Amino acid sequence: MFSQDSFHAPLSGLRSQKARHTRGARLIVRAESDFYAVLGVSKNASKSEIKSAYRKLARSYHPDVNKEPGAEQKFKDISNAYEVLSDDEKRSIYDRYGEAGLKGAGIGTGDFSNPFDLFESLFDGLGGMGGMGMGGRGSRSRATEGEDQMYNLVLDFKEAVFGIEKEIEVTRLEACSTCDGSGAKPGTRASKCSTCGGQGQVVQSARTPLGVFQQVMTCSSCGGAGETSTPCNTCGGDGRVRKSKRISLKVPAGVDSGSRLRVRGEGNAGRRGGPPGDLFVLLDVRPDPVLKRDDTNILYSCKVSYIDAILGTTTKVPTVDGVVDLKIPAGTQPGTTLVLAKKGVPILNRSNMRGDQLVKVQVEIPKRLSGDERKLIEELADLGKAKPLNSRR
Ligand code: ZN
Repeated sequence: MFSQDSFHAPLSGLRSQKARHTRGARLIVRAESDFYAVLGVSKNASKSEIKSAYRKLARSYHPDVNKEPGAEQKFKDISNAYEVLSDDEKRSIYDRYGEAGLKGAGIGTGDFSNPFDLFESLFDGLGGMGGMGMGGRGSRSRATEGEDQMYNLVLDFKEAVFGIEKEIEVTRLEACSTCDGSGAKPGTRASKCSTCGGQGQVVQSARTPLGVFQQVMTCSSCGGAGETSTPCNTCGGDGRVRKSKRISLKVPAGVDSGSRLRVRGEGNAGRRGGPPGDLFVLLDVRPDPVLKRDDTNILYSCKVSYIDAILGTTTKVPTVDGVVDLKIPAGTQPGTTLVLAKKGVPILNRSNMRGDQLVKVQVEIPKRLSGDERKLIEELADLGKAKPLNSRR
């Protein structure tokens, strides 16, 4: 990552340079920019040096990645600088006459093209921002991606184990059908903002004893869009309206509480032609009264009498596939775990593989005996005592 220091270093160099030909440089909020300093390159940098400096900086300050205040403005400044310095004609005008020269030549500075388009044209196909959530911004400056939506879905124990198809109803913002998402009242056309002349920014000048200072501000009439329109009556100019939609959701086998499903493009619609956000479905699974889940295994405890544990038996055990017979071998010790293979939970995305059901055997010792039972047990005890030690097994 590009550090803050290395970004600021060239700017302090710029200050002393500026002081020579501008008045009261320290008080200027935004006057002439030194495009070389903005990109951190020297005056005789080659085209490829300029391009690589731009790519490095744009990557760090892209507002999709960098959420720090001021990052977007820096991103725009970087883009403006690159736009001038990457163009031979603009660069030579700039070198000779500065930013004022560009304005004089009718080129103007400050958002003269959409910085996101410029960014994408350079990264598209290069894989530079792949996987970072880039791309998809519309060509108009106010096109923005729709927000992601969350939905909580509660599943029964077996629905989570085997997967299920569910219909859910979500409420989200969709493109307004009255205005086709433009936000402008049908029949009216967006016109260039008369306040800023389509620039989206206005320059304010202030005369002070130290000189005239200029400050560039976002145009308040159009909010920076550069155009104004009569707002659509249906959506109030947002271009989106709240609507509910039924979505058929395929829940795969093996999900658990906390699993998150992503449904692409089913979040809020984007603004002004921007792409929609995604829908995230958060799953919560109701517990089963007897079967406990441990990842892909299912845990269960069964009780057998001490006699059945000694002699062996077959007992009925509930599983997610229904009740099955479980053989308790003769001489089963208390706390033994018996395995019902492949009666557990299918492995997520590999549903032909399953975990096991683990059955823990609890041996019940009676607390009270009938007279007959006591007599028999005592006989059993005597039998044990009568046996010579070496014949015991
Ligand atoms: Zn509308």
